[in-house]
Amino acid sequence: MSSLLVDDIGELVTNDVGGEGGPLGIRRDVALLVDDGRVAWIGPSRDAPAADRRLDAQGAAVLPGFVDSHAHLVFAGDRAAEFAARMAGQPYTGGGIRTTVGATRAASDDELRATVRRLHGEALRQGTTTMEIKSGYGLTVADEARSLRIAAEVSEETTFLGAHVVPAEYADRPDDYVSLVCGPMLAAAAPHARWIDVFCERGAFDVDHARAILACGQAVGLGVRVHANQLGPGPGVQLGVELGAASVDHCTHLTDADVDALASSRYDCMCADSLHTTTVATLLPGAEFSTRSPYPDARRLLDAGVTVALATDCNPGSSYTSSMPFCVALAVREMRMTPAEAVWAATAGGARALRRNDIGQLGVGARADLIVLDAPSHLHLAYRPGVPLIRQVLRNGVPQ
Ligand SMILES: [Zn+2]
Repeated sequence: MSSLLVDDIGELVTNDVGGEGGPLGIRRDVALLVDDGRVAWIGPSRDAPAADRRLDAQGAAVLPGFVDSHAHLVFAGDRAAEFAARMAGQPYTGGGIRTTVGATRAASDDELRATVRRLHGEALRQGTTTMEIKSGYGLTVADEARSLRIAAEVSEETTFLGAHVVPAEYADRPDDYVSLVCGPMLAAAAPHARWIDVFCERGAFDVDHARAILACGQAVGLGVRVHANQLGPGPGVQLGVELGAASVDHCTHLTDADVDALASSRYDCMCADSLHTTTVATLLPGAEFSTRSPYPDARRLLDAGVTVALATDCNPGSSYTSSMPFCVALAVREMRMTPAEAVWAATAGGARALRRNDIGQLGVGARADLIVLDAPSHLHLAYRPGVPLIRQVLRNGVPQ
């Protein structure tokens, strides 16, 4: 593999924890050498080593690619009419998931694959270089397995969400559905998944069912994530911390005890790396935007010392956006995160939420997943909302 010098970088966001330059590890007026898909060197252009190719950043800002740690891309149909009804005043209840389940079961593999690839490509053009993808609109053994098989064609971060909602045919016997999820469905899904997730919410899965399902997933080696405290207060966040979840997602309705649990979360992962020892709170402001709901209190989490990530929650019902720059802008404007906090949460925070330290940062040795902005600074992501600011995307050092 050839080497590439990204030259004339005006502002380089490294997120390098050991480095200088504030929480984003900002370096100015530097070049960055990519060798064999990794960051091999950073320094002044005049000292740059020879490289096979050169990419001129023309004084622009360069950031780690966004890490979108929460997305539901495997589905069929859309719910534009439901969105319109909601904007006309109807509340969001989560019940529309069953509409998408019906359409997804009826779709062919190729239809599902086309949607996954379209949305994954759309996200990539907006700077997302890692995207977690969940199942959860199949809800049969065969449909969950094929959803994950198709997701795994484009991402290594795949999540089994058979416990998204109890499907209509099990409405009167949720215990039987939990047995199905923990038994044959998990067995069929696990070979294609890295994670297991549960929608722990009133109207979806209660805490006992959620704990049972997540424990079954852990027993076969899957990491834990939880949809928690989105529609109201509940036990999901503390269950996630109890089980050593990598991330609890939504966190819109939190008690002091929830915040304390997250702030003191530690998980013995039998590894020395402290990056891997916290349950991240992943905030999904696209969902509050699209359901016209109050945003989570990001400041309360950050001020308590909780690790915060931002993700899109891309799905056809409650957040049909694949845009991490949009989520950064929402986090700054609506959730009072600083631009630096929001950019960190959308890159390094997402990496933490996936227990990865090779992405979400651009220190020497990191994967060369990076974006060149059409702007001189990361501030512009929030300062110029809705504008296509992603000029160039590199994944594994390869221009996309
Ligand atoms: Zn979700």
